[in-house]
Amino acid sequence: MSIAVIGSNMVDLITYIETMPKMGETLEAPDFSIGCGGKGANQAVAAAKLGAKVMMLSKVGDDIFADNTIANLQKFGVNTDYVEKVTGVSSGVAPIFVDPSSQNRILIIKGANNYLKPADIDRAEAELKKCKLIILQLEIPLETVYYAIDFANKHNIPLILNPAPASKALDIDYACKCDFFVPNETELEILTGLPVTSMQEIRTAADTLLAKGLKNLIVTLGDKGAVWLRGNEITHIEPYRVNAIDTSGAGDAFIGCFAHYYVQTKDVEHSMQMASLFAAYSVTGQGTQSSYPDKQAFENFQQ
Ligand code: ATP
Repeated sequence: MSIAVIGSNMVDLITYIETMPKMGETLEAPDFSIGCGGKGANQAVAAAKLGAKVMMLSKVGDDIFADNTIANLQKFGVNTDYVEKVTGVSSGVAPIFVDPSSQNRILIIKGANNYLKPADIDRAEAELKKCKLIILQLEIPLETVYYAIDFANKHNIPLILNPAPASKALDIDYACKCDFFVPNETELEILTGLPVTSMQEIRTAADTLLAKGLKNLIVTLGDKGAVWLRGNEITHIEPYRVNAIDTSGAGDAFIGCFAHYYVQTKDVEHSMQMASLFAAYSVTGQGTQSSYPDKQAFENFQQ
């Protein structure tokens, strides 16, 4: 394996509504769909679609969603030997309500994702040690994230930590042990308590984290691209201009693609450029994983 994602699987339960029912009211909604998601799974699928050899360390429930989740990962070539079912627990699910103006209301029930523990990392030690990169997010218990960071440091495996969803409980000392810390603007704002409405404000907020000892801070900025900050240096990666239809999962697309190219080249700027292009492609289609191009489609897009 070249990349291990230690993270979440979620099932998106998307209800398209006309209006939100009031308390006690029952309304008919026009449409419904189910999608495979979770930040961990999205990032694993993004890298796998590009041809990376990816394994996931993750938990699913013992409900009707579990087999579908595993089959979906396998369909994209993600190794699921360490995706385990937890008895008596629901899979992670995200009921999402989308109104006619495409505004979302999202609930997250982490379910089985809460059961991914340090002992699971020990169980997968032999496979994980062979990986060239580990990716982490925050949809699993923090104790597992910290344990994974110590594990990767002990075995000299490079690490990407995507602090999403943002948690003020995150110990920045652990973030400093990661090679790449990759928040989006909102996560940067929550983690620092500082505004991020301009490049100058983003730089100031980023500097407070860098001052704590972060090695490489990459902030994704939606349609403004992304910045890479280390020490006093800053590199801005321009966004690719596309007709955006649905930006959900763009951050995960960016990270999965960045990981794939970084493992191959160790060239951060080039990997960010490819990630920016890949994420731009993803916002031109509906959904998350389904909007990510495979290797061939991505090559065609670059021409
Ligand atoms: P999400 O939470 O929806 O997964 P995010 O907020 O974590 O996304 P963003 O910063 O919005 O992530 O986007 C990630 C990357 O995707 C950006 O750095 C950029 O490269 C690309 N991107 C996002 N939106 C657009 C857009 N409208 N046009 C072009 N590129 C985009």
